Amino acid sequence: MTNPSIHIRRRGFMLVISSPSGAGKTTVSRKLLAQETDLEMSVSVTTRPARPGEEDGKDYYFIDEGAFQGMVKSGLLLEHALVYGHHYATPKASIEKKLNQGIDILFDIDWQGTQQMKEISTGDIVSIFILPPSSQALEERLRSRGQDSEEIVHARMKKAADEISHWSEYDYIIINNQVDETVEQVSSILHAERLKRRRRVGLAEFVNFLRGEN
Ligand code: 5GP
Repeated sequence: MTNPSIHIRRRGFMLVISSPSGAGKTTVSRKLLAQETDLEMSVSVTTRPARPGEEDGKDYYFIDEGAFQGMVKSGLLLEHALVYGHHYATPKASIEKKLNQGIDILFDIDWQGTQQMKEISTGDIVSIFILPPSSQALEERLRSRGQDSEEIVHARMKKAADEISHWSEYDYIIINNQVDETVEQVSSILHAERLKRRRRVGLAEFVNFLRGEN
């Protein structure tokens, strides 16, 4: 007989996704968040100006240099990095509380941020690196966004090679050839990681209950 009320308490984890810009990570994250429950996006702060269509508090918290330095000094940031001349950082606020509640948090951050987060907390981090299927595809995606100047596109192509050189520091590598397939692969990782024994803090209680029953 199945028991529909079984709920094993578990600790959430931090799912970090990195890729060179233009590899499709934002689309993948958006689709994943739309289809999964108990998964929330970490909204970073940045000193870069908002692109057309970006919303403050949703895509990023857009802050100025002074506010950024203030957050660093007050210890409010989990990690921070300088990317393309602008500061990007992850606010600490409520992360621990969410992990305790069994909520997973998705981070779209670069390799520098991933390294810093791994230093702070290895056990709660699962990292995925997304590679583009080819360098042509990467360039096309960067251009089709039509939001960045030619100069920035070139700088980002150069930076992409740097970012890609860090692929081997990640737990999982996905080649984003077809976006829905990539989302399915990330989803499989999410669901398998949720079953890891050490995250399922309610298991011991459940097993004790099972043994007591027999
Ligand atoms: P974009 O300007 O295209 O939104 O982001 C540029 C790069 O900054 C991307 O590689 C993105 O992953 C990274 N990034 C965004 N937020 C953060 C953050 O909070 N910390 C770090 N280290 N990198 C970030």
